[in-house]
Amino acid sequence: MPSLLEHAIETLPGIGPRTGAALRERGYQTVGDLLWLMPKTYDDQRHPTPIHELQVGQYAVAEGTVRVTRRFPRGRHMGFEARLEPDKAPEGSGYRELKVVWFRAVPGLSQRFEVGSSVRVAGRVNEYRGVATIAHPEVLSEGAEGAIEPRYPEIPGVRRKTLRRAVRAAVDRAAHEVPDLIPKELRAEVGVGAVGEALASIHVPTPALLAGDSGGGHPAQHRLALEELVLWELALRLRRARERGGTAQPFAPEPAVSAACAAFPFELTAAQRTAVAALSSSLNRDEPMRRLLQGDVGCGKTAVALVACAQVVAGGGQAALLAPTELLADQHAATLQPTAEKLALRLGVFTGALSSDRRRAMLDRMATGAVDVVVGTHALLSGEIRFANLGLVVVDEQHRFGVAQRLRLGTRGSSDRPHLLVMTATPIPRSLALVLYAGLDLTTIDAKPPGRLPVTTQMLPRKNRQKVFRQLERALDADGRAYVVCPAISSSDELIGVDHAYAEMKEHFGTDVVGQIHGRLSGDERRALMRDFADGTLKVLVGTTVLEVGVDVPAANIILVEQADRFGLAQLHQLRGRVGRAGQHSGCLLSYTEPLSPEAEARLQALCESDDGFRLAETDLELRGPGHLFGYRQSGTSGLQFANLTKDGELLRRAGDLAERIVRSDPSLTAPRHAIARAAVRRWERFEAVREDAG
Ligand code: ADP
Ligand code: MG
Repeated sequence: MPSLLEHAIETLPGIGPRTGAALRERGYQTVGDLLWLMPKTYDDQRHPTPIHELQVGQYAVAEGTVRVTRRFPRGRHMGFEARLEPDKAPEGSGYRELKVVWFRAVPGLSQRFEVGSSVRVAGRVNEYRGVATIAHPEVLSEGAEGAIEPRYPEIPGVRRKTLRRAVRAAVDRAAHEVPDLIPKELRAEVGVGAVGEALASIHVPTPALLAGDSGGGHPAQHRLALEELVLWELALRLRRARERGGTAQPFAPEPAVSAACAAFPFELTAAQRTAVAALSSSLNRDEPMRRLLQGDVGCGKTAVALVACAQVVAGGGQAALLAPTELLADQHAATLQPTAEKLALRLGVFTGALSSDRRRAMLDRMATGAVDVVVGTHALLSGEIRFANLGLVVVDEQHRFGVAQRLRLGTRGSSDRPHLLVMTATPIPRSLALVLYAGLDLTTIDAKPPGRLPVTTQMLPRKNRQKVFRQLERALDADGRAYVVCPAISSSDELIGVDHAYAEMKEHFGTDVVGQIHGRLSGDERRALMRDFADGTLKVLVGTTVLEVGVDVPAANIILVEQADRFGLAQLHQLRGRVGRAGQHSGCLLSYTEPLSPEAEARLQALCESDDGFRLAETDLELRGPGHLFGYRQSGTSGLQFANLTKDGELLRRAGDLAERIVRSDPSLTAPRHAIARAAVRRWERFEAVREDAG
């Protein structure tokens, strides 16, 4: 026997073939579907408001005596209006009458609005030529006890009252059948109710629900949010279990780790040492490491990664270090070279810019094990690449990599899977990190090397050019270097391009000391430029966001960002991380053209006030919602309808506990009582897959 939830929508009272078709078009096919149609708000029809107290914009129930009615033509239809006056003489000021109007009359209005009769109507109050007006009000039955009515989203072809009645009937008939992800015993144990009960109390509201509605929290809403988060957490755990499978080659930490730590020209910070300890013990296990290393710009993740590489190489493995851009790959290779040499690591570079001879030679060295650590771009992920014994993959600046690429990782080499280390400087709150990087353990470097000064950050309207140049000059006088970042290569009506800024800087500072860098230059040209900039031949480097990640020129002490409002908060923080890396005083100038949107202003302001990437990430979340972190275009598309990841941290934790208990008892959800969870997770994953493709 099919569940009552599966009954066709047309079995509900008031739903004929036409209304049924309209609902089906919106995806509501069954009684069960309709239970998940959530009210937008509630109309409180309990207390009539005297006509003279009506307020424009308010949802109100009003009573009055019909004084006069009128039908009027409107387009091809007839409209209807009635004027009501208060039953009692109004006191004080305020409206003397209420006009109710239908621009397209519905049958039966003249009978209901007989002159002299008393009526009760409800709707949103407007004012038209000084008269309080409600257009298309709901006509309530006189004398009946007023109720709190859910207001559903409008569905064309479905009348408001019909919809209410149908949902109400669906609740009465089938809410008790709505399946729960959390099995009954577990619900009883932790004291949460059934989902069906929560749905029922959302559709059949009580005064308490209405009170909670404005305060943002009612048990029923929490219950649905919890359900959603449990589903999310379950999906994550299953995915994690799947990604975790397989074996890996274990690599003993000592003596390689101590030797590597001692090879740097600096002492590792305590935070770096903690990270090294976490990594080295994971690498020593025969299950593949899957770890996310996050830490603010400049906290020294590269050094930690190199220690891990050394550990793997000492045990006979190879390591691949993936950077998001060729510029960064080259730079990593260059900065790692001295330490690698000390440790006798054979370092190679593999990017798309290699000549075919050198490319072939490098492929050969990788395949025969003649190179230990290969630094490259995503070119390293292409299918033809073979390693003799790939033991570790390090992905730097993960946020620049697409999700699809992320998934293809970790399958190269022998039958063992390589260990995986993902690094990001876009810090995110822990709860979100766990969600975003499902299946990865999390290590955070929470302190920077000593002696770093915060970068002095200011907002400057673009019209204030003199001030900008004065600051640039002062920075260069201190034997510094300046970056100038533009939102585009070529200028347009809207955007200041590298071309424009380059010309402007040359005019001001002289042709010889200004360079420009962007994605259209060849790898060789870019390398030469970076070299000139590092050794001081060039003083000013104008570029696009190719400068964003990881570029490391210690002398750089000022960065000017043109049209800073065009960049995201995380991106600006990254850019700012390019300066002051040698511990000197440094500055960041956020140039903008007025007017600035309030949101952009808040972003730039936040940047001026804080140098802490984690704090900024929280701010960013508040300003934009979590959607962007997931790589989806619009915000708010985390796929969650009831829960708010930014605000429901405590609920997320509870959901995590529940999910943990569910999968602990039944790791792949095969038990019959987990059928619902299994089906829901499958649905969820299909949805995710579609979204990732789209992203
Ligand atoms: P990020 O975490 O942003 O990738 P990097 O690894 O590029 O940071 O390191 C930033 C700079 O700090 C580099 O110039 C690096 O040599 C330096 N550095 C890293 N660790 C230390 C340390 N413990 N003490 C001093 N300088 C360090
Ligand atoms: Mg880095």
